[in-house]
Amino acid sequence: MSKILVIAEHLGGKLNSSTARAVSAAIAVKGEAIDVLVLADSVDAIAAEAAKIDGVSRVLTVARAENAHPLAAVLAPQIAKAAAGYSHVFVPSTTFGKDVAPRVAALLGVAQVSDVMSVEGAHTFKRPIYAGNAIITVEADPAYAVVATIRSASWPAAAIGANNAPVEALAVDVVLPTHTRFIELKQGASDRPDLQSASKVVSGGRGVGSKENFDIIFKFADKIGAAVGASRAAVDAGYVPSDLQVGQTGKIIAPELYMAIGISGAIQHLTGIKDAGTIVAINKDAEAPIFEVADFGLVGDLFKLIPELEASL
Ligand SMILES: Cc1cc2nc3c(=O)[nH]c(=O)nc-3n(C[C@H](O)[C@H](O)[C@H](O)COP(=O)(O)OP(=O)(O)OC[C@H]3O[C@@H](n4cnc5c(N)ncnc54)[C@H](O)[C@@H]3O)c2cc1C
Repeated sequence: MSKILVIAEHLGGKLNSSTARAVSAAIAVKGEAIDVLVLADSVDAIAAEAAKIDGVSRVLTVARAENAHPLAAVLAPQIAKAAAGYSHVFVPSTTFGKDVAPRVAALLGVAQVSDVMSVEGAHTFKRPIYAGNAIITVEADPAYAVVATIRSASWPAAAIGANNAPVEALAVDVVLPTHTRFIELKQGASDRPDLQSASKVVSGGRGVGSKENFDIIFKFADKIGAAVGASRAAVDAGYVPSDLQVGQTGKIIAPELYMAIGISGAIQHLTGIKDAGTIVAINKDAEAPIFEVADFGLVGDLFKLIPELEASL
């Protein structure tokens, strides 16, 4: 029977919702146990949150000063050690997970399964390839532990609140590397909703034209309570910071409403919004590929249409 270890992602003492999404994938494996592993310097608050997630059997904690910051080089040996006896190690397919999971896989001597979109069986998974142009079914060898990253946008978060899983401290006897050290965390401060978990996202592309012009996107997003995203072209041109990038090499998101403004709809952008609900596009080129995926399309100049939309809201 499968035993799944889900690695908790957290920041500032708070659990990231990607953890509950990874638990949903673990539930789909239909195994005998789902344990969540919390690695931090101060574990209590995070473990208490994780214990409430539906489907979690136990929360295991490793409290060490070295775990104060999520350094993959430091966390991976502890996860690999804690993984003994588990058939699966699931990590959210976020920046955190993409950093740590390959190291865990390497330490366990297995090939990682990346970006799991659906669980077809305990060792059979669906994942996107070719920038989301095709979905491949992959089968992992049951003789080895499965190390997989879970595509957050493809899984709803498991319900939080009803469960009260036991929390146990875990002793992991492993020498930690010292060649990677934490220097500083530079984090964008924003009052806007988080791009990765927002239900509404307004994104701007190269068509917005400049950093100053991007104000029109920020203002409109604020008006409807949306997070702000961007195409890679907008990021590369310096209109907005790279943490706003949506797409293959940016964030994969699944908002209920996605508005693509001055974005042509390149495949690498579309792969980031595959699981979005309603897609609205504003573009002056009626032939832009974004209109092929948009539920609602407005052909025209964004600088004319957005103020009109704003006025009618
Ligand atoms: C390996 C790889 C990975 C990549 N990863 C990503 C990724 O993660 N995310 C991503 O977005 N891209 C990614 N790209 C880049 C991608 O191929 C496109 O180049 C990019 O998405 C284009 O951005 P854009 O739509 O803003 O710009 P453009 O393609 O230049 O489109 C701008 C659009 O704005 C419209 N427009 C211009 N002015 C106005 C106006 N006044 N009013 C209304 N519309 C207007 C134009 O008609 C045009 O359709 C990747 C590329 C590669 C090769």
